[in-house]
Amino acid sequence: MHSTMQDVPLSVRRLLEHGSTVHSGSRVLTAMPEGYTEASFAEVAANAARLAGALRGLGVGEGDRVATFMWNNQQHLEAYYAVPCMGAVIHPLNIRLPGEQIAYTANHAGDQVIIVDGSLLAPFTGLIPHLPQVRHLIVNGPADPAVVAGITGPEVHDYAALIAGQPDSYDWPDVDERQAAAMCYTSGTTGHPKGVVYSHRSIYLHSLAIALPDVFDLSAADCVLAVVPQFHVLAWGLPYTAFVTGCWLAMPDRFLAPEPLAGFVAAARPNKAAGVPTVWQGLIRYADATGADLSSLTEAVVGGSACPPSLMADYDRHGITLVHAWGMTEMSPLGTLSRPPAGARDREAYRLTQGRFPASVEPRLIGPDGSVLPHDGHSVGELLVRGPWITAGYYQEEPFADGWLRTGDVGLISPDGYLTLTDRAKDVIKSGGEWISSVELENLLMGHPAVLEAAVVGVPDERWGERPLATVVLKEKGSVAFAELQDYLAARLPKWQVPERWAFVDEVPKTSVGKIDKKVLRARHAAGELDVTTVG
Ligand code: AMP
Repeated sequence: MHSTMQDVPLSVRRLLEHGSTVHSGSRVLTAMPEGYTEASFAEVAANAARLAGALRGLGVGEGDRVATFMWNNQQHLEAYYAVPCMGAVIHPLNIRLPGEQIAYTANHAGDQVIIVDGSLLAPFTGLIPHLPQVRHLIVNGPADPAVVAGITGPEVHDYAALIAGQPDSYDWPDVDERQAAAMCYTSGTTGHPKGVVYSHRSIYLHSLAIALPDVFDLSAADCVLAVVPQFHVLAWGLPYTAFVTGCWLAMPDRFLAPEPLAGFVAAARPNKAAGVPTVWQGLIRYADATGADLSSLTEAVVGGSACPPSLMADYDRHGITLVHAWGMTEMSPLGTLSRPPAGARDREAYRLTQGRFPASVEPRLIGPDGSVLPHDGHSVGELLVRGPWITAGYYQEEPFADGWLRTGDVGLISPDGYLTLTDRAKDVIKSGGEWISSVELENLLMGHPAVLEAAVVGVPDERWGERPLATVVLKEKGSVAFAELQDYLAARLPKWQVPERWAFVDEVPKTSVGKIDKKVLRARHAAGELDVTTVG
């Protein structure tokens, strides 16, 4: 029996129309060297229409890829709507990847038009000779005229001038909801980055889920500081959820260092925020040192890497709740988010988990032999997921054989549905047949008052196969000895899990999106570049 319900496509166009009418007065604030600029959602929609008109004039048609090389700002938001709504595909390039990987992703995606922030034009120009398919560069904001004059190859346009003469409405096509709307590449710590293509339907459903009270809890009464970059998993979907809910967006542009970011928080006064742990580490240290005003913030979602408990405690002191979330580029990215349930006796223990899955995301834990493990709070296995905003395969590759995404993350799920990740599958330390969680060691070490950051990797060991090597960044050099850190861990862990190999480092290597880069750390160790001390 068929239903009698209307079959309205779930498209980005519906989000644009809703946000720009029902929430026409909601605003996007973009950080400037001093203060910020602002625009209403109605103005963003009018500019999105102008941009679509201009792109059509440049020959962009249905299914064509339009890339961006931009910070989080108003014009990037305009592109987020203009491109998918006209039936084309937006591809935000990860500006922090090494040049050859950026060129690889742009060529692999077939980008022909790229919108570049003026502030990023100088570093971008080195890539141009490697992008033979690119026909048009659209430069947003002031750029060095000498740099512009030196560009050969693509035609160069100024964003504001290009859209200025265009009509403020566009006859948006009715696209099939399963059509591609956007694409992002995984950060590619091994091999080439892989493309994930999001559909209109996946973006629409994901945007609704992000807004839910047990997820980001967003409404028209909120202003959210989107620190997570638009070039990393579509800024966790916030640009689209904003138009669903009417929540304001505070976009930091290039002002991501602690001092200007704190200045932007004080000026724009967002009450919520989203970003990776490294950003929150830097901001709180700055605020503690200077008394910077973060008082508008009530909570911040932190994801992308495990959130150390010490970081949560630091923010608690400022009355700001860090809410732990887990996700992946392949998952749009929402996987889980941790808010303790009613009646929880140990709320802190719940907060430290990666959290619960929203409706639509189905988890499965599997053991090394592929058997399905129970959600009993202690069976540890690899996590598989499926759902309507989870990719069925990578761009231009075969779809996954059985319909599940293998996340490569290892963990356990409690009977009441909370996920705790213990490691990436490739980072698990296998010592004498037992598994040691590098993440647990890092979290404990970062709880020691003298430790700023810690990263733990497995290194070859004759007797045990592998043993943990702890690399530590101290807040003050020389303030603590390895033996003390060992005792600190021994008081909290079974003795066989405590590392005997230690190295102090000036900084922990990070990937383009701020995760600990264990591949680099292992390579440095293999090359003998770390000054390792064996204790005990
Ligand atoms: P990306 O696709 O770059 O966002 O990376 C996704 C990966 O980041 C996941 O598969 C996890 O390994 C890791 N990750 C993301 N969020 C968390 C978290 N809250 N805790 C631990 N690992 C995380």
